[in-house]
Amino acid sequence: MNASPPMPEAIEPGSGVHAFPHRHLTGIEGLQPHEIVYLLDEAEKWIAFNRATTKHDPLLAGLTQINAFFENSTRTLLSFEIAGKRLGMDVVNMAVAQSSVKKGETLLDTTATLNAMRPDVIVIRHDASGAVQLIADKVDCPVLNAGDGRHEHPTQALLDALTIRRRKGRIENLVVAICGDVLHSRVARSNILALTALAAEVRVVAPPTLMPAAVERMGVTPFSDMDAGLDGADVVMMLRVQNERMEGGFVPSTREYHALYGLTRERLSRAAPDALVMHPGPMNRGIEITSDVADDPRVSAITEQVETGVAVRMACLDVLTRGRRGVPGW
Ligand code: ASP
Repeated sequence: MNASPPMPEAIEPGSGVHAFPHRHLTGIEGLQPHEIVYLLDEAEKWIAFNRATTKHDPLLAGLTQINAFFENSTRTLLSFEIAGKRLGMDVVNMAVAQSSVKKGETLLDTTATLNAMRPDVIVIRHDASGAVQLIADKVDCPVLNAGDGRHEHPTQALLDALTIRRRKGRIENLVVAICGDVLHSRVARSNILALTALAAEVRVVAPPTLMPAAVERMGVTPFSDMDAGLDGADVVMMLRVQNERMEGGFVPSTREYHALYGLTRERLSRAAPDALVMHPGPMNRGIEITSDVADDPRVSAITEQVETGVAVRMACLDVLTRGRRGVPGW
């Protein structure tokens, strides 16, 4: 069991103490528990706002947001775009498939080009772990990591933590089972970092071939038997089998994978009676999760995760641009 995270002192604007003293959000790694809680609290404020018919706050009006997604995305790209627009920013999406990246331009040259357009925030997704940090080190504005390779997906972990907190009322001492292709999952990595920081008891469930080496060092308990890993769990977080990051040999067959690691109604009955089911999407229905579980609103928070995601991204865009906007105390 992890120790309780230190609770933040009230931080007065102008006190010189920053509630979030980071220029970029490249990962959950390096964040203090109270900084994570601060972002969750800030995001909470936008949930009701997003449910109103008119959803526009000119808080970030005049600022330019560039979304540069070098890897496919549905939820994250749309969510960042909607978040920026609801806060009044001019949001542009770089169309990577039609860009000079396809002519062989290097990442650093593309970065210099984006930077020269004087954006106020850049949101990046890239298939190379560490690419986002490389870009963050070279530009003059805050950078948000929208997923880099197998490394991190910090806003996903924040939205997952907020979804859990809203449904369960807390995160501390909950048993969270993260199940599936842990090895290739940036979602798993960021969630392990966030949830252990917030004092959840985290288990990871995966076939031996998809379990990262020495994962226990991250403060989690590994299970190769899914029924044992789910036993009494409060939250069951399923992961997509990331075929695009495998070169064969990791999983004998999808049928066998489903039989051993697929979340079915029957398998879910091992978890706590009020267990919450999550999945970051996109889902491989019938492989890591069955439709009857995924589509049951009494147990599944999958669409709620998407809703929470917009609020989390609004909070991150706001917090990270406060310094540039001259917000007192930032
Ligand atoms: N959408 C998430 C990500 O980009 C999860 C996934 O693709 O499986 O990492």
